Amino acid sequence: MKKIWFVGAGPGDPELLTLKAQRLIEKADAILFAGSLVSEAAMAWARNGCEIQDSKGMTLEEITGWLIERAKDGATVLRLQTGDPGLYGALIEMVQPLDREGIAIEVVPGVTSAMASAAAAVETLTLPEVTQTVIMTRVEGRTPMPEGESLPELAAHHCTLCLYLSITLLKKVRENLLAAGWRDESPVVVVHKASWPDKQVIVRGTLADIREKCKAAKINSQAIIIVSPALGARDWPELKKSKLYDAEFTHRFRKAEKT
Ligand code: SAH
Repeated sequence: MKKIWFVGAGPGDPELLTLKAQRLIEKADAILFAGSLVSEAAMAWARNGCEIQDSKGMTLEEITGWLIERAKDGATVLRLQTGDPGLYGALIEMVQPLDREGIAIEVVPGVTSAMASAAAAVETLTLPEVTQTVIMTRVEGRTPMPEGESLPELAAHHCTLCLYLSITLLKKVRENLLAAGWRDESPVVVVHKASWPDKQVIVRGTLADIREKCKAAKINSQAIIIVSPALGARDWPELKKSKLYDAEFTHRFRKAEKT
């Protein structure tokens, strides 16, 4: 019996697959992909005769059943997940039944959509003396948030927040951030289908108007919301420079210049 691979397919652009993901797609006998989010273009490398199935509409039991059946037949089986499998990917729910069957598994990380969104918008998520912390989270929807992780609590850090699964909850995002002391003028960027060739949309606004702007742009799915004190830094006249490139700063690979 072969291993079952849980592979991060990245945010959409097939060129953002890792080399390892590409190699595994090439040698797979069976691929189960999360159809609503994984671009079918990623399957272009699959060999002729590879069984390719969209998991859209399948329950968790059907998904694990599908994987187990094929692994027991000796197939090289891939579960292609959007972005990185370890973020909102139901990874452990799928792995546990395989563990119970004694099936070996391996996980291949992928480029998560928050990083693809920041790249698309040419934004940095950390900036010296502005923010050095990123929180990846979501607004409470049908999945309840654990204690201490409500958005007002997390937003109180005033660091970078990348919100997954929350584009239909922008009203709540605004209320929660205002409650945490952010201002209505705080910049927000929403990226829909980050990295998807011809489909990516970037909407910039503020806490006050981002909801209307997204409505006008008809964005109500597959989007990351970034709120951060570092947003828009590209246009700032002055920055606190990173110590890494500071001429007066010595680090492991470079001695400071004498001043
Ligand atoms: N494991 C995935 C997240 C899955 S949850 C990852 O690492 O990216 C699904 C959520 O991911 C969506 O609601 C949306 O917030 C985000 N998402 C997935 N693909 C995206 C993309 N290409 N652009 C923007 N957001 C995306």
